[in-house]
Amino acid sequence: MDRERIFLSPPHIGAAEKKYVADAFESNWIAPLGPNVDAFEAEIADYVGSRFATATSSGTAAIHLALSLVGVGKGDIVFCSTFTFVASANPILYLGAKPVFIDSEPDSWNMSPVALQKAMTYYVAKGLLPKAVIVVNLYGQSADYEPILRICREHSVPVIEDAAESLGSTYKGKKSGTLGDFGVFSFNGNKIITTSGGGMLVSNNRDFIEKAKFLATQAKEPVLHYEHEQLGYNYRLSNVLAGIGRGQLEKIEERVRARRDVFNRYRDAFSGIKGMTFMPEAQFGRHNRWLTTLTIDPQQVGKTYPEVIQALEAHQIEARPLWKPLHLQPLFQENLSFAHGDEYVSTQLFCQGLCLPSGSNLTAEQQNKVIQIMRSVLAV
Ligand SMILES: *Cc1c(COP(=O)(O)O)cnc(C)c1O
Repeated sequence: MDRERIFLSPPHIGAAEKKYVADAFESNWIAPLGPNVDAFEAEIADYVGSRFATATSSGTAAIHLALSLVGVGKGDIVFCSTFTFVASANPILYLGAKPVFIDSEPDSWNMSPVALQKAMTYYVAKGLLPKAVIVVNLYGQSADYEPILRICREHSVPVIEDAAESLGSTYKGKKSGTLGDFGVFSFNGNKIITTSGGGMLVSNNRDFIEKAKFLATQAKEPVLHYEHEQLGYNYRLSNVLAGIGRGQLEKIEERVRARRDVFNRYRDAFSGIKGMTFMPEAQFGRHNRWLTTLTIDPQQVGKTYPEVIQALEAHQIEARPLWKPLHLQPLFQENLSFAHGDEYVSTQLFCQGLCLPSGSNLTAEQQNKVIQIMRSVLAV
């Protein structure tokens, strides 16, 4: 990687990772199973406080498996947060089901219980129910699960928690990823910890996790020859990559602290400036601050977010827009969506928002450079 460039969220690798990867090489476990995979599953389950876990080749694969396990199929409706990365919803399409998008609420930027209730009422009146609800914990902050779960439980609709960005966050004392019937984590290169690519599905339901492992290994029946009754996938994580994950996980609390420190420095640098609003941290939990995100109101600040991104880019600094809500994506133009109020909160955030370099290995010097360039472009 280019050493001069300041990245949005680069990998942060330590020494322990090399030891676990070396173990894999020395024992010749260069396979999508092995001791690192078993240990990584147990260590993630233990860290988040879930009973069972299965490692997958990606977070997307874990979402796909969770949807398959609750029986999502052709023509089914699945509710999904609109304000997220496309990977949250793509697996709904893989299964031939129909996503319906739920807007954000302003306090956490996550799924609005008000919009969720509207959507549920709309479908119940038609005699239909969603087969599952995918709730995303955006930029590392948990959604507000109490009201969300109340609405879903009332209709016995399973909840899949897309915690791809929120490992290390909490909701009312519980670790992110353990609030729904399933939790999904991602270890893609840009996440708070990484295996370069990988994911994890967690649940307290043993049958679900055993079935997930079965589906993720081509659904091979437990007999001597190759017997297949169901459609399966090749979704298991490599033992080499699980070794990277084990080393990374040892440092999760440090990584959360570092990202929160990065956030605090940005917030302090721009505190009191009208029109610059950082993503709030809701009362109900700890935000891992995977990415520092904020909105810039051009009326008050006199500059738009693309102007800030371009000014940073001119200095080899990577900043990015917020996720474009899925209900605005051409891919989903046929799909219904439900707003929090008269307008979409997610759309308003998208129109003004950006993410700043937030890596746990961002140095104070690098961060000062980002802040200085922002101050000069914004004239604050
Ligand atoms: C990264 C991400 C995913 C997908 O994870 P991969 O491991 O890249 O497949 C899903 N949902 C959200 C919200 C993400 O940020």
